[in-house]
Amino acid sequence: MSHKQTNLREAHAHLPQLGRSMSMLDLSACSSHSEMIDLIHTRAEQTPLGQWILCSSVRVEAWDEPSWPTRQQLDAATGDKPCCAWSFDYHAMVVNTPGLEAAGFNEVSPDPPRGRIMRDEHGPTGLLLESAALQVWAAVPEPDPAQRRTHILAALAHLGKLGYTQVHDLKSPAWLGPMLAEICDEGLLELSVELFVLINEFKEVQEQARGFERDQIRLGGAKVFVDGTLNSRTAWMLEPFVDPIAGLACGQAMLEPGELENMVEMVDGLGYPLAAHAIGDGAVRAVLDAIQAKQPGTRGFRIEHAEVIAEQDVARFVELGVIASVQPCHLLTDIEVVKRALGERASRVLPMREMIDAGLTPGELLLFGSDVPIVGADPEDSIQAAVQRRRVDMGEAEALAPDQSISVDEAWACFGE
Ligand SMILES: [Zn+2]
Repeated sequence: MSHKQTNLREAHAHLPQLGRSMSMLDLSACSSHSEMIDLIHTRAEQTPLGQWILCSSVRVEAWDEPSWPTRQQLDAATGDKPCCAWSFDYHAMVVNTPGLEAAGFNEVSPDPPRGRIMRDEHGPTGLLLESAALQVWAAVPEPDPAQRRTHILAALAHLGKLGYTQVHDLKSPAWLGPMLAEICDEGLLELSVELFVLINEFKEVQEQARGFERDQIRLGGAKVFVDGTLNSRTAWMLEPFVDPIAGLACGQAMLEPGELENMVEMVDGLGYPLAAHAIGDGAVRAVLDAIQAKQPGTRGFRIEHAEVIAEQDVARFVELGVIASVQPCHLLTDIEVVKRALGERASRVLPMREMIDAGLTPGELLLFGSDVPIVGADPEDSIQAAVQRRRVDMGEAEALAPDQSISVDEAWACFGE
């Protein structure tokens, strides 16, 4: 259908997390407990005592027997070494007993707010959800500067191999700019990188930008989260979810009214655009409203994800000059979830035919990325999703809003200039 392309731009990546996940044991190919335990056992034998065994990309839902191994099964493979294994979407994790202890959990620990410790007759099973998983992750030592550098180099090499020459990092920590500058000055930086820094750290990083900016390294703007995600039913929706969380019929706005306008004004005053994470149509509209109200003079304001867009808001992107930075590849794993969560409204998910027809020019106002490492960064995945609106293994009738499909050329152009 399409051939290998080069000179691509990955418009939504997380370089530190990608690099770190590449250093972890990848369990994506496992399809059972025993395969997972075998791989972890081999890794445990190579891991020095006292160090964590970190694993990623478990996709239990895809197994014939979709249940997680228990902490006792992990313990048998790891001995005293702490071990944790993330689900592919980073919303769940299984942990062994030393790992639970390192995070301060015991047999009777209560669930932390916005988290779950799954239990059976022997106490915690080792499976943790949301904030409980994050509490374990917080107990894992942060990579040191040398490890970070290794991670960043690995992430850049990985993206380079996929044909990318430009990458936008959408939650850059303060150390990333200076580290990239060092890599660049040694002649080792082969990609151009644009950095988007969380809004509460933005001023501080902006003041240092002159020190780390190079031809290939640029501070791009400030990142803000306006809502949650469809998978967790925390995206901010105009209409209720079919299957909402109790008390959150339309998901969750992460900002108070007025806050977004203040942020638009603040970053515009510094001469930078905002990159706003907005997944639900309510969040997308709130960002457009704030930009319309403040009429920023800076170009490049963008909405990250923009997964659900109300029909009357599509043309507003063009009128206001707002970039839609989307990740069609997520459709491949999320089609079922989206249909379940949104019902009829699933037809408003990534209405790219309408967007292009309304004047969102591919590569200028409509950009493709992947959100790697949440999913893989292979550009072919987004091409498949944008053109076919379904996975390769699905029938045509299962496609999501196939009338929103765009052409192969249009889809590739979203990865270009
Ligand atoms: Zn992201």
